[in-house]
Amino acid sequence: MCGIIGYVGKRDAYPILIKGLHRLEYRGYDSAGVALINEAGKLNVFKAKGKVAELETFATDKDTTGHIGIAHTRWATHGEPNTANAHPHYSASERLAIIHNGIIENYSVLKAGLMQEGYSFKSDTDTEVLVQLIEYTQVDRHVDLRTAVQLALQQVIGAYAIVVLDQEHPDTLIAARKGSPLVVGIGDDEYFLASDATPIVEYTDKVIYIEDEEVVTISNDREVEIVTIGNVQKPPEIQRLEMSLSQLEKGGYPHFMLKEIFEQPRTLTDSMRGRINLRQDNISLSGFIDNRERFINAKRIIITACGTSWHAGLIAMYAIEEFARIPVEVEYSSEFRYRRPVIDKDDVVIAISQSGETADTLAAIQLAKERGAFIFAICNVVGASIPRVSHSGCYTHAGPEIGVASTKAFTAQVVALTMLALCIGKEKGTLSPDKYFAIVRELGQIPDKIERVLGQNKRIAEFAKMFMYAQSFIYLGRGYNFPVALEGALKLKEISYIHAEGYPAAEMKHGPIALISREMPVVVVAPQCGTYEKVVSNIQEIKARKGRVIAIVTEGDDLISKIADFVIEVPRTEECLTPLLTVIPLQLIAYHIAVVKDCDVDQPRNLAKSVTVE
Ligand code: GLU
Repeated sequence: MCGIIGYVGKRDAYPILIKGLHRLEYRGYDSAGVALINEAGKLNVFKAKGKVAELETFATDKDTTGHIGIAHTRWATHGEPNTANAHPHYSASERLAIIHNGIIENYSVLKAGLMQEGYSFKSDTDTEVLVQLIEYTQVDRHVDLRTAVQLALQQVIGAYAIVVLDQEHPDTLIAARKGSPLVVGIGDDEYFLASDATPIVEYTDKVIYIEDEEVVTISNDREVEIVTIGNVQKPPEIQRLEMSLSQLEKGGYPHFMLKEIFEQPRTLTDSMRGRINLRQDNISLSGFIDNRERFINAKRIIITACGTSWHAGLIAMYAIEEFARIPVEVEYSSEFRYRRPVIDKDDVVIAISQSGETADTLAAIQLAKERGAFIFAICNVVGASIPRVSHSGCYTHAGPEIGVASTKAFTAQVVALTMLALCIGKEKGTLSPDKYFAIVRELGQIPDKIERVLGQNKRIAEFAKMFMYAQSFIYLGRGYNFPVALEGALKLKEISYIHAEGYPAAEMKHGPIALISREMPVVVVAPQCGTYEKVVSNIQEIKARKGRVIAIVTEGDDLISKIADFVIEVPRTEECLTPLLTVIPLQLIAYHIAVVKDCDVDQPRNLAKSVTVE
């Protein structure tokens, strides 16, 4: 949450910063701002409420010259989304400007101390407190800016990625992180700083990922210098980016979300590439092979995640318990980290996060690590914090996901987790070879089968129009498709702002059935597997109460087609893989309803991707 970017070099900083903000806008869009030092050595700050485009309009007639600058797109945590609270924030003397991603938890104590020293504040943010504290330290202790940053951060409780610009040093940026991501891009005689590599990739593929409690100094005529906040020197470790520019563009689609939905046949092929050998019907997952004993001797597996990743974790619970016969618990990271959970050294903790930066999941990992558990990460962003602090893991290789509502990252997580469940089951001997081979073969068919579901996009778009005035939806599913019902409801809430609830189909009788009426559509995920007959009965119960049913069924299902109001067919597959097909129509339903309602599909209100704050 919050996108930060900095530039120092020979080029004009402003266009680079603005373009970078557009790339980072998925992280927050409450306000945007930029700070630049012009040729005369003046530090100018421009900010505007709303999206980056508002900032561009506001800054048209302003002095946006300069070869060094910082910029920010905000997802407000402290103080409403208005111009005063927008970043960058000036220090009292207006000599310094800061951008920040994170939360300074003890900001009120620090603020009270500074007020006693005569400081006043123009915003309600925690961030402004930090820039004042840095300036106060600089003046009070007679130290240089980097030392002032180090000393100030020693007093901070919370999470931050910050970049500070100093009018007195128009060639230097000082940045630091703890808990929020920060990456340095190294170009030819120019440097970039950003929350992630998306604004950097078109200029260079050389990056340094800054670690927690490190302070980095970048200056156009010097090497990158890294020290900890305790002043220990750290050698910069340069890495190569594996991202291409085309992955960050819409490629002819009206929205990133639709592009990402349609990318799924390819992204799942990428997730399986080099891992599934279809000629031998075999899976080889290096993160599993290297830690085989930990997995097969695990007494328990704890899955920790948030949001959509938590839904992928629930599907994994069904698969791991079925194939590997190891008890699985699926935990919301935010609950797990604060509820004194029982964690044993024989436990395996699987942490799932698209961005690899989710603050609660990162904290849950730290807790489990302290208790001696083995941590396996499922992440999409290569080099992010979560894979770096975990013992092992598996990248999902879905490519950059820009739409705030997750789609391709979810299916890639389900594939990675299913491969892991199959590996454990096979090695433990709890999964029969026949079943193992059948599922592996079927995994190979999934991309083509998703393609077939996507072929119904036009039809889904047509009927979605009928539901644009619905106030509320219920999504029902059982077994492997119960988490799919949760995910379908979440997608609808996120992007169309229609209230929706996901429920296990049989639980409907214990409450939600009271809500059924013609006005409330019920989406039932009902492929022909395990509990099919039971779900058919659930549909009858809804129809008996005049509910309108949209059913996701297996191709050729004559029974449900006769009773449901709308039917979307998905190809037949192994039961454990049905979520990969049944979730596709639910993604498309949410997308098309949001489009007809004229909602901002890629940047839904109040949301942001990569939740780096608690
Ligand atoms: N706490 C800061 C603010 O509210 C930054 C928020 C964030 O990183 O999401 O302005």
